[in-house]
Amino acid sequence: MSFKDLGVNAALTKVLHTSGIEKPFPIQKATLPDAIAGKDILGRGQTGSGKTLAFGLALMTRLAGRTAASMRPLALVLSPTRELAMQISDVIAPLSRSVNLNSQVVAGGLSYSKQIQALKRGVPIVVATPGRLIDLIQKKHIKLDDIEITVLDEADQMADMGFLPDVKRILDLTKPGGQRMLFSATLDKDVDSLVKKYLKNPVTHSLANEKSTAGNMTHHVLIMEQSHKDLITSQIAARK
Ligand code: AMP
Repeated sequence: MSFKDLGVNAALTKVLHTSGIEKPFPIQKATLPDAIAGKDILGRGQTGSGKTLAFGLALMTRLAGRTAASMRPLALVLSPTRELAMQISDVIAPLSRSVNLNSQVVAGGLSYSKQIQALKRGVPIVVATPGRLIDLIQKKHIKLDDIEITVLDEADQMADMGFLPDVKRILDLTKPGGQRMLFSATLDKDVDSLVKKYLKNPVTHSLANEKSTAGNMTHHVLIMEQSHKDLITSQIAARK
């Protein structure tokens, strides 16, 4: 089974090939055909499973060759932190160029002017954190009416950080009937309310971490003083 067999655009598979990525991971096999067909996706699982390429390849295949009007991107990936947004962008950017799609990170702690200029020129894919995105919406530098695909990455972490009201505000501004893909390790903490309200008959996939072998693990709970944590952690890490 190759990425091409799953329906991924040929120019994208060529770039994957040059990076030595030939065989889809299980989450990619499970989600790509449905995601490329435009269905809503609910992915349960963690970093390391290959979910960035799972949603990234689907959205780039669907939007290949399209252009965005000034300040009106076509796809939005929401991430809880700037660091994750930049990691997602690092995966998407080299691939997106092969299908004439630009992408832009919109996140706090980075220059406003670069983000605003890119949005003004017209950028099809925006990878954003909720706070800076709301800020730029309020300042009228971006409009979400043309968003056809929204990805919520690490939705449980966004809930933990108190971003769900912002996430809901953002989703309410996207084009009705657009595709939504939500990835989360758990559905606690109101993530299920997001799923119920914003995903239509989502295709659900549980994604095991590629490298995890949970069957071989034993869990221990250590109760300790806060001040002992660093020492104990280093002792655990240093043992055979
Ligand atoms: P992610 O869960 O998206 O953070 O991906 C975890 C890591 O797996 C990243 O370093 C990816 O570049 C890598 N990766 C994702 N899919 C594949 C694949 N099909 N073959 C090889 N490496 C991959």
